[in-house]
Amino acid sequence: SSGIDKELRAPICCILGHVDAGKTKLLDCIRRSNVQGGEAGGITQQIGATYLPVENIRERTSLKAEATIKVPGLLVIDTPGHQSFSNMRIRGSSLCDVAVVVVDITRGLENQTIESLDLLKHRNVRFVVALNKVDRLYGWKTCPNAPIAKALKNQSDDVRSKFIWRVTEVVTQLKENGFNAALYYENKKIKEVVNIVPTSSVSAEGIPDLLLLLVRWVPEIMMERLTYVNNVECTVLEVNKDKDFGTTIDVVLINGALRKGDQIVVCTKQGPVTTNIRYLLTPYPTKKLKAKAVYKHHEELKAAQGGLRHAIPGTALIVVKLGDDLEQAEAAAVQEICLVVNEDESSGSDDGTAIQEMSRIKTCKEGAYVQASSIGTLEAIIEHLKSLSFEIPVSGCNLGPVHKQDVMKATAMLKRKEEYAAILAFDVKVMPEAFDLAAESGVKIFVADTVYKLVDSFTDHIKKLKE
Ligand code: GDP
Ligand code: MG
Repeated sequence: SSGIDKELRAPICCILGHVDAGKTKLLDCIRRSNVQGGEAGGITQQIGATYLPVENIRERTSLKAEATIKVPGLLVIDTPGHQSFSNMRIRGSSLCDVAVVVVDITRGLENQTIESLDLLKHRNVRFVVALNKVDRLYGWKTCPNAPIAKALKNQSDDVRSKFIWRVTEVVTQLKENGFNAALYYENKKIKEVVNIVPTSSVSAEGIPDLLLLLVRWVPEIMMERLTYVNNVECTVLEVNKDKDFGTTIDVVLINGALRKGDQIVVCTKQGPVTTNIRYLLTPYPTKKLKAKAVYKHHEELKAAQGGLRHAIPGTALIVVKLGDDLEQAEAAAVQEICLVVNEDESSGSDDGTAIQEMSRIKTCKEGAYVQASSIGTLEAIIEHLKSLSFEIPVSGCNLGPVHKQDVMKATAMLKRKEEYAAILAFDVKVMPEAFDLAAESGVKIFVADTVYKLVDSFTDHIKKLKE
């Protein structure tokens, strides 16, 4: 009756951008809460998600009742903006359908904006640019919650020309980074040209535009991807201890449905754990996030919604259906956990056969050694190495700080293929003894603050060796 196409699931949207661009504040504004004010240093430390039902969007955008929106809502994932959390940024973006890249209009594109754009380009994720903090333009008259066209009409010629000048500059910067972009209301090629939505996360000008654009544009460009299928596709975001419910797992249900009582297998550091879903909970979308008793109970939940119970963030959650082989499901879960198990694994031989057997990551006898802080980043780096014109194989990987043992494993390449006697370390500490052993033995350790810089410095090294 509401004109919602039942076949489509809610698009999953993540928010990226430079630190202080206003990601947290924008999300607050979207869900009308005030998390940003309550965070230590204003930095988002963990991935959270907010489900915004389409009714909420309709109400806020005063959309005509007859106007159809094809998706049931929007699931927005908040990703941290601080550089040290770039591994989580990567995790956040791999499960997203679309992204909102937040750019501070007074600062234009910054380092992490460009890093985010790189990431989206490599992952083939479509995005819109929220050109935020328009209220910071000198002389701006605030028009709370107004659509941007209306807000602009209210400004002086001087403010409007400053606005246009800033937009033009950002369009040029985006072009320099390989993206054609335009203000969304002037964009005639919405399937090719990146939409820019001017916003303020403080006075909420342009927020209705952003929400409406997302629920209308996204189904238009990825109808097929959003078509609901019955296979459960579910990713664990966070594990929490709740006073009332005990251990809860926050998940993103990308596809399929979960029911109360469903038997599930989750990956924990102690191995796969089989359990039943005791409660299915979703937070109320418009209430303050940290207030009490804001969960809604469900008998069944359909994709895409957040909401569940010791698991490893970033791994899959597997539902055991009647007639399914539990052992097989557990085995699948084991595949997800083994990377964490590798941390304590000391393989007797130097060719990493244990890793090869257990992990999903294909390792070769000859290849580089990769070390990162999370499964997500590890996968991102390995994927990137594979996508190079001269594919770089991986002989081993590990999570956490680089220790002497890791360097020992990498020294095996010195005799086999010297150029691969290297450790690519991302977002992890390199212990002093590891550095010393590397210097002594001739193993190169590469560290960088972005995946692309890391891989680039390694490939430059190989090129130099080949010359
Ligand atoms: P994040 O690091 O990208 O998550 O940025 P935050 O959301 O923490 O915002 C950084 C600072 O900019 C905070 O002091 C916010 O209050 C402020 N801020 C964010 N968005 C806006 C906006 O649209 N207008 C103004 N004036 N300030 C903003
Ligand atoms: Mg933040």
